[in-house]
Amino acid sequence: EGMTIVELAKHAGEPITTLQDIVVNVGEKVTSEFDPLSIDVAELVAMEIGLNVRRIHSNEGTDIVPRAPVITVMGHVDHGKTSLLDALRQTSVAAKEAGGITQHLGAFVVGMSSGASITFLDTPGHAAFSAMRARGAAVTDIVVLVVAADDGVMPQTLEAMSHAKEANVPIVVAINKCDKPAADPERVKTQLGAEGLELEDLGGNVQVVEVSAVKKTGLDDLETALLIQAEMMDLKARIDGPAQAYVVEARLDKGRGPLATAIVKAGTLVCGQHVVVGSQWGRIRAIRDGMGKLTEQARPAMPVEIEGLKGLPMAGDDIVVVDSEERARMLSSGRKRKFDKDRLIKINEERIETLEPSEEGPKRIEMPVIVKADVQGTVQAVTDALKTMNSPQLFVNVVHVGVGSVSQSDVDLALACGACIIGFNVKCPPSSVSTAATHAGIKILIHRVIYHLLEDIGNMIVDKAPGTC
Ligand code: GDP
Repeated sequence: EGMTIVELAKHAGEPITTLQDIVVNVGEKVTSEFDPLSIDVAELVAMEIGLNVRRIHSNEGTDIVPRAPVITVMGHVDHGKTSLLDALRQTSVAAKEAGGITQHLGAFVVGMSSGASITFLDTPGHAAFSAMRARGAAVTDIVVLVVAADDGVMPQTLEAMSHAKEANVPIVVAINKCDKPAADPERVKTQLGAEGLELEDLGGNVQVVEVSAVKKTGLDDLETALLIQAEMMDLKARIDGPAQAYVVEARLDKGRGPLATAIVKAGTLVCGQHVVVGSQWGRIRAIRDGMGKLTEQARPAMPVEIEGLKGLPMAGDDIVVVDSEERARMLSSGRKRKFDKDRLIKINEERIETLEPSEEGPKRIEMPVIVKADVQGTVQAVTDALKTMNSPQLFVNVVHVGVGSVSQSDVDLALACGACIIGFNVKCPPSSVSTAATHAGIKILIHRVIYHLLEDIGNMIVDKAPGTC
């Protein structure tokens, strides 16, 4: 449970009276400074004084049960991540039900005949994994490293290995495309061994499975290997009590408003609860499972779609349950303030870095941009594409990203850091926003094709610094 004012003051090195003032400011009565604050108030106070806080839920005295592992698929481009996920999805619970209509949730569950199940995150690639980690979300239990049997270890294979290692997440290797005549799984194993992966065949504990996503062979073996790995990790979760959950994907639906796919890490998320999600808040109006069926609650490792948030959260945001709407609003605005403060600090740090003169040659041009797009996946794709433009002469500095159309607050931020705004696959902003941008001298680029976007930016840079590009 929450800390006392005295303890918080000690941690923060702030006078007790300052903290008492903050407690009053967040609308809480000050009792004794030795009484524990409620966890919500403690978080608010900690944020106000600039402490980074993380909620730790105690498991004491509650029912702890085994839970399904949550898997992310990573590997080099074209090695078959998407195909493998497609093949696995066809064996998923939703696909097996009559009709088999799976709705896109960003995650799906595969059930085994033994009764065990496995949850797969449906966004392959490293960007999603890093984005979640950057927000402190340790959602992934195991990484499936996909390596094409005919192509072997490639740069992004190594990148995936270091991501997993850094996050302390174990790997199960899926050697894919084993149906191809040119397939050479033994060569892949040798390569991985040489890169320091301790494969089971060579006496280590990293399992290797040979599969073909196209011919759908080896999928059972892969699922079994994942369950063995999960068993070794002894994954467990408390099922009772307030949920602790993470957002894996979020989108805006015309009729239903902001929708977030959540995976519960512990506890049970129940319809009707008040929640704070990242810096957003809301009351859960509906919970749907992978088949789009309404359900009353979500248990650990079960991906669900929740409806009822007031704004769009981001992948990796945590979901905490609070006991009233007032609390939810309060915590959310506290987090927003902290978020804005941190963001400004970050922007300034990045700018200072960029303005540092390079050793020699022409100065590097910095181009700050804000990226808005229709869904999270697109945001990532656009950001990645922009980064490919970086060179010794140019630094495309993505200062802010978000889902949805270009808004007034984007314009405000753009003005604060001299950025231009990119709207990708979104409607043109309302005229009030574009007028404000014009007045402030801020460019808004609306595009639907990445190639055109990059071309447009290229032209802007030529305008900015003739002769450097
Ligand atoms: P990703 O970039 O890692 O997501 O790779 P994709 O899933 O898009 O696959 C890239 C290409 O490899 C596609 O043309 C797939 O059809 C092909 N591919 C994927 N898995 C297999 C496989 O098991 N066998 C064969 N022969 N081709 C595959």
